Amino acid sequence: MARAESRTRPMNSDPAKPSAPALEREASFQLLFHEHPLPMWVVDADSLAFLVVNDVAVRKYGYTREEFLGMTMDQMAAPEEPPTDAAPEATGETRGASTAWRHVAKDGSVLHVESTWHEISFDGRDAVLVLSIDRTAQRNAEERNREQAKLLNLASDAIIVRDLDQRLLFWSQGAVRLYGWTPEEAVGAKTADLFVGDKLRFMEAEVDLLRKGLWSGPLTHRHKDGREVIVNSRWTLVRDEAGAPQSVLVIDTDITETRKLESQFLRAQRLESIGTLASGIAHDLNNILSPILMAVSILRRDLSDPDDEKMLNIIEGSAERGAGIVKQVLTFARGAEGERALLQPKHLVSELAKIMAQTFPRNIDIQTNLPTELWTVMGDATQLHQVLLNLCVNARDAMGAEGGTLTVAAENVDIDDHFASMNPGAQLGPHVVLRVSDTGSGMSPEVMEKIFDPFFTTKEVGKGTGLGLATVIGIVKSHGGVLTVQSSIGVGTTFSVFVPASRDAAVAEKEDAAAVADGAGELVLVVDDEAPIREALVGTLAAHGYRAYTAEDGTDALALYFQRKGEIKVVLTDLAMGQMDGIALVRALRKIDPAVRVIVSSGHFQKENLAVLNGLGVKVFLEKPYTAHKLLRALRTVLEPA
Ligand code: ADP
Ligand code: MG
Repeated sequence: MARAESRTRPMNSDPAKPSAPALEREASFQLLFHEHPLPMWVVDADSLAFLVVNDVAVRKYGYTREEFLGMTMDQMAAPEEPPTDAAPEATGETRGASTAWRHVAKDGSVLHVESTWHEISFDGRDAVLVLSIDRTAQRNAEERNREQAKLLNLASDAIIVRDLDQRLLFWSQGAVRLYGWTPEEAVGAKTADLFVGDKLRFMEAEVDLLRKGLWSGPLTHRHKDGREVIVNSRWTLVRDEAGAPQSVLVIDTDITETRKLESQFLRAQRLESIGTLASGIAHDLNNILSPILMAVSILRRDLSDPDDEKMLNIIEGSAERGAGIVKQVLTFARGAEGERALLQPKHLVSELAKIMAQTFPRNIDIQTNLPTELWTVMGDATQLHQVLLNLCVNARDAMGAEGGTLTVAAENVDIDDHFASMNPGAQLGPHVVLRVSDTGSGMSPEVMEKIFDPFFTTKEVGKGTGLGLATVIGIVKSHGGVLTVQSSIGVGTTFSVFVPASRDAAVAEKEDAAAVADGAGELVLVVDDEAPIREALVGTLAAHGYRAYTAEDGTDALALYFQRKGEIKVVLTDLAMGQMDGIALVRALRKIDPAVRVIVSSGHFQKENLAVLNGLGVKVFLEKPYTAHKLLRALRTVLEPA
């Protein structure tokens, strides 16, 4: 090993004849060498064999003095350590050159040391004085810090350190994942400016923290992209050595999805219990309302005073409205078991758009948005119609007097794991999503929590029943579908109904289209005691090539049929009517004309009624409310029996 040519002044240049000052120097060197608190060695400059070892070195490395003297410095270096050539080379540097390396003590423990090298002359030969400072503790601490930082970054939680001025000092990778800001953007910024959603709550927590040294609780924060992030936040006040508060360690765990699922679960449970309760009440109410309605029709028979007539109308009107509500509750509570058929949702949407165009105020712009290829769904057309109608009526109400835009759109969607995990009850696979959007008032989160509860309404008494959405959800669930809502106050609302679909659109398209055949001027006698229904039916029939007569009840209808027996091709009658009900009418008609063609419609067919009607030869039934499509199909069925 080459060494620098220049030499320090010899310490012991002529051991044979030391001068007095030299002896003194020798003695102080010995003292300094042996009593020095750091390990020191003198090694041969070429072989690196140990020549002298001090006491600390013996104690620290565990080798005896004799063992040391039989070893070289290289043998003490850790095996993977580069050879001692790493010691300062011939640079002319002879004093205090230093190397960081690792030593192995006799017991095998590894010491991180920093050695300084001084070339000296010892006993007349070139030697090196090596002095080692143990950096093991420091190195370990550094390593630990590095490892901890790595761990902090691995943690999925956001780990954040900020000072008492709210300035961010540390921003872990977890924080990047949770809030979207990079450490470069976050460090130095103020917490409140960056991601705090609810500032008031944040300040309250801060006060609590300063008082108690600890704080934990849920907080609503914001992601860089504006999305809401709900976290469970734990804060610890970190103090300096003197005990003064210095910084705050924050650990945020994301609970956004957990929260969402929790509230969905709670809502589902609440709906279930309300459903049970509601169906019990509905049955009782039915029993209360039926006698009222029956009594009204009996009282009406011998009326003389027109005021009494008015009163009766009020009683009847109210009782009927009550009965209507009860019917809806029962649909909701039972989860609507309708008939299932493959159907093309496009027809539903366009039919609905027609109805809206006729009945909604002019200042509501009705838009439909349908793709050319829409999958078919397995469902009950009447019920799905009702779903869309309820959503559209709500949209209309939300837009109030100013009006706005109402959009009904449909789209094919493949529900994936992600969507399914976020929406309990959703099935994987193809769905058709029907969306009803408005530019109306929107809803607050508090209102949104309750909209599916039966009887929850924000509308004035008499305007809303609070049953629309409860019914909607019942029907959607019974179809194996799910419903989602997005709403923002002042901007509008979108309801999305996902119904399981079948990819095979073409087949159903044909079946559906084939069934819709228009009439050829045939005359239909419409019997229904509700004027709006009669009017609607006359309109629909006229639009599809039929002519119509109307009658308010069975007696009326019987008289008309008697007069126009030859002309009337079909009688379409409601089942429950005031004067003479559907069954009585059919029985009477059969007597006049055994070949009469009859369609019976009702909102609630009961087994007994169906049996009686079957006995009277009625083959075609229409469950109210029905679509124009169904009506037309029913007409074709009675007019051209297969
Ligand atoms: P109702 O219409 O009889 O009030 P619903 O069950 O249909 O009952 O609706 C419940 C409530 O949900 C409404 O009163 C209203 O507050 C809210 N809501 C429903 N749809 C919308 C919408 N499109 N925009 C704003 N609020 C709506
Ligand atoms: Mg409604």
